[in-house]
Amino acid sequence: ETKIYHSLRSPVPLPQETAPLSVTDYVFSLINSFPSPPTVSALVDGDTGRRISSSQLISRTESLASSLRRELGLRKGDAAYILAPNSVNIPILYLSLLSLGVVLSPANPASSEREILHQLQLSKPRIAFATSAVAHKIPPTIKIVLLDSLEFESLAAETRSGESEPRTSVSQSDPAAILYSSGTTGATKGVILTHRNFTYTVALGHAVRTARKTPAVVLATVPFFHVYGFVFAVRAVALGETLVSMERVEMRKMLKAIEDHRITHVAAAPPLVVAMVKADRKVVDGYDLSSLEVVACGGAPLGRDVAAQLTARFPGVSLVQAYGLTESTGRVFSTVGPTESKVGGATGKLTPETEAKIVDPETGIPLPPGKAGEIWVRGPSIMKGYVGDEEATARTLDAEGWLKTGDLCYIDDEGFLFVVDRIKELIKCRGYQVAPSELEHLLVSHPDILEAAVVPLPDERAGQVPIAFVVRQNGSTISELQVKEYIAKQVAPYKRLHRVLFTESLPKNAQGKLLRKDLTRLAMSPAKL
Ligand code: AMP
Repeated sequence: ETKIYHSLRSPVPLPQETAPLSVTDYVFSLINSFPSPPTVSALVDGDTGRRISSSQLISRTESLASSLRRELGLRKGDAAYILAPNSVNIPILYLSLLSLGVVLSPANPASSEREILHQLQLSKPRIAFATSAVAHKIPPTIKIVLLDSLEFESLAAETRSGESEPRTSVSQSDPAAILYSSGTTGATKGVILTHRNFTYTVALGHAVRTARKTPAVVLATVPFFHVYGFVFAVRAVALGETLVSMERVEMRKMLKAIEDHRITHVAAAPPLVVAMVKADRKVVDGYDLSSLEVVACGGAPLGRDVAAQLTARFPGVSLVQAYGLTESTGRVFSTVGPTESKVGGATGKLTPETEAKIVDPETGIPLPPGKAGEIWVRGPSIMKGYVGDEEATARTLDAEGWLKTGDLCYIDDEGFLFVVDRIKELIKCRGYQVAPSELEHLLVSHPDILEAAVVPLPDERAGQVPIAFVVRQNGSTISELQVKEYIAKQVAPYKRLHRVLFTESLPKNAQGKLLRKDLTRLAMSPAKL
């Protein structure tokens, strides 16, 4: 019996698909639809305390868009590369560029120069926006606007608004962003997400928001360059929420921010949620956390019991879990309300308008209910494809619009999703993507290395860490430390190898495919470590 799972949630009001509408137009229309303008601050800089109201956000966004158009000549279809940690400038920059139809391409500011070059080859930007601490990593051939400079302040200055300008017509099918992901296999690719993908995601949040009595105050501990944070950056203001952003969030900083800003919602990746559960009571008791209602968690697996532990440790706080991918504009399954998050190990139910099926990962044939297989999803949040890579797009998106996730899952009778394992190569360290094939290519580029395989090792704090199995060239005596340093020089810190194991050969099946799971098992056996 073939089973297609349909969303059990009520449909949400969506803008008409064919209407020209940029994400920014939609966000501003939602703000204007509030009976009275939201009185809360739209953005708060958690590091400096700087506050930006929603009307200031609108006028700064419009001023910046107008300056970028007139003074820097940015036009619809151009791409803009963004390399910066979280700050209140980022949502304003995103909304400005989106209003012009400029395609945003934000990347991790910890990326190495080599990684940045690869990203630039994918997105082909006309301009880059970066903070001064990381701008030197971008090649000088690209015009760079420093986000922490007077130039940027002047471009966004509200005094510039008021001049009437022809509006750029943006269709919802136009690309809005290129985000970086390695997908199920191979190197980093550029995921094209459209304005429609984001208008749908904003509409989802808006539908949930209307059920709240008081506006939420959200602390984004997740980076705005990742799809999870990106969605918060563009939609918080549309929901009348206050978005508090901080450059780097660790436990104590987060607790202090919750107390200072009366945070109601924290958006986090699993490592921070695990840290909360394990936090020293003496530390936690030193803060007034009475405002906190919800901790939202997604992006990587979370231990089965963490939801219950969180509520036990922080009474009155519930966990919202979500499952999604960059390729699906984030969440396609999520929990709603405290009861659903108590279902141990479940990451929620299908979001409205979205469908799923569970298939045999080898054959693609759908499996009956309750059986674990690869989950495929289809709906308004699914990407357009990978930029300039038809082959990878065809491998990932089928002709009927199903996105092949590479995740091993099952769905129970009530429609809850359980993520069992990852079939794809992808490693997630602290919520960040590590593509094994990228590290393997680097490893074999070393003259002393004949063959290499990079696999995940489970890690309590990071979720997973990358380790390598290496076959040395004949006569080579290269050491673990030398291999680790060779990689560390070339990659962002979260991709560094935690261990290098030397071996005579790598296990492969009859077709020559690397047996990665065997290697992880081998690394976990105590005799080997
Ligand atoms: P990214 O594109 O960086 O968001 O990574 C997407 C991948 O993260 C998914 O394909 C899953 O392997 C993993 N992932 C995301 N959310 C969850 C979750 N709630 N539970 C388990 N794995 C998850």
